[in-house]
Amino acid sequence: MLPEGWSGLSTSSENAQSNVVRRGFGLKAEIRESLVTDYHSALVEKIKARGNTLQVGRLTFRLAEEFGFCYGVDFALNLAYETRRKFPDRRIFLTNEIIHNPRVNLRLREMGIEFIDCSSPDPNKFSHITSDDIVLIPAFGAPVHEYKQLQDKGCLVVDTTCGSVVAVWKRVERYAREGFTAIIHGKYAHEETRATSSQASKYEGGKYLIVLNHEEAACACRYIVEGGDRQAFLEKFEQACSPGFDPDNDLQHVGLANQTTMLSGESLEIAEMFREAVEKRYGAEEVPNRFRHFDTICSATQDRQDAVNKLVREDVDIMIVIGGYNSSNTTHLCEISSMFKPTYHIDDADCIISATRIRHKPVDRAVEVFTDQWLGSGDVTLGFTAGASTPDRVVGEVIDRVAQYVIPNDR
Ligand code: SF4
Repeated sequence: MLPEGWSGLSTSSENAQSNVVRRGFGLKAEIRESLVTDYHSALVEKIKARGNTLQVGRLTFRLAEEFGFCYGVDFALNLAYETRRKFPDRRIFLTNEIIHNPRVNLRLREMGIEFIDCSSPDPNKFSHITSDDIVLIPAFGAPVHEYKQLQDKGCLVVDTTCGSVVAVWKRVERYAREGFTAIIHGKYAHEETRATSSQASKYEGGKYLIVLNHEEAACACRYIVEGGDRQAFLEKFEQACSPGFDPDNDLQHVGLANQTTMLSGESLEIAEMFREAVEKRYGAEEVPNRFRHFDTICSATQDRQDAVNKLVREDVDIMIVIGGYNSSNTTHLCEISSMFKPTYHIDDADCIISATRIRHKPVDRAVEVFTDQWLGSGDVTLGFTAGASTPDRVVGEVIDRVAQYVIPNDR
């Protein structure tokens, strides 16, 4: 179900831009079968129908109550498939990745969609795009200047930006309009946060500061309360603040926002840290004039975090978290799970290598590792969750592979 505010995805003036499409091409029925073939899992449906539990031999498989594709990913993929169907002979490009899932991105490449790496500041990255081309904007959105470059090219822009991301953009825009610096809890290099922070540039003098975690938030809060070494501050946040940022001036009025997929509890704590800092520095009576906060974690992220929190507190021995290693929301599911249970983050079914060996990425490591005897012996309950960008089909294949490869060898 779409969240409240989804209709905020486009405005009448945006709809008037003839080279931007945000609503699709009316081909939902035509692409439905392809989407089902590529991403649906009969096994997952079967397990859901049985109360999210399946018993196979000595193993019990348990699914989180919420996992996998969110409404934003559904929307983005529908639009991408409709675009291919509508324009079978046109060149179609995509900025970055549509979502952070290797299987999904591979499928789009197979459909002839070409990916443009926008992580570099290369000013010529769109030089090969012509007015005859089509460019898909992913669910994370795109920075304001990239969006404008593409529109200036005269190409057709098919914008799959999630409505929940657009809701955060509106918040950041409003902060900039009202003279507040947007403090964004997120990862400065993440596509969504790059797009979100760029919204501040829509207003002259608009400012932002991106904080990754408690430590960076504490550093900024200390500066609010006590001031500090301006140069050291700017060096620390060199990549994470707007051009010309001045901590002496630009931390006097702050508005909190976040990347939609961060840990919701951490975002709330960081907001409270800033509120307290403002109160300490300026007094309680000034807080309403100098501090703004709206929780911008999306409901899909919240639902998946709540569900994994519930599952790991139940009768589960081992958790499997499935999703792209560069998927922010999947990584956070992993962080939650790892606090309670042995957890294996895998990105596809082939990570289940054999009856006894698994390839996975621990939450505190940048690369994959191999673990032997991961499944133990005797009766074991395996809990499963998957990020918002993980197709059910991958979840089903993982479960099937564990059952196929592990169970016969246990006997
Ligand atoms: S995780 Fe949330 S913000 Fe991201 S695409 Fe899904 S619904 Fe949208």
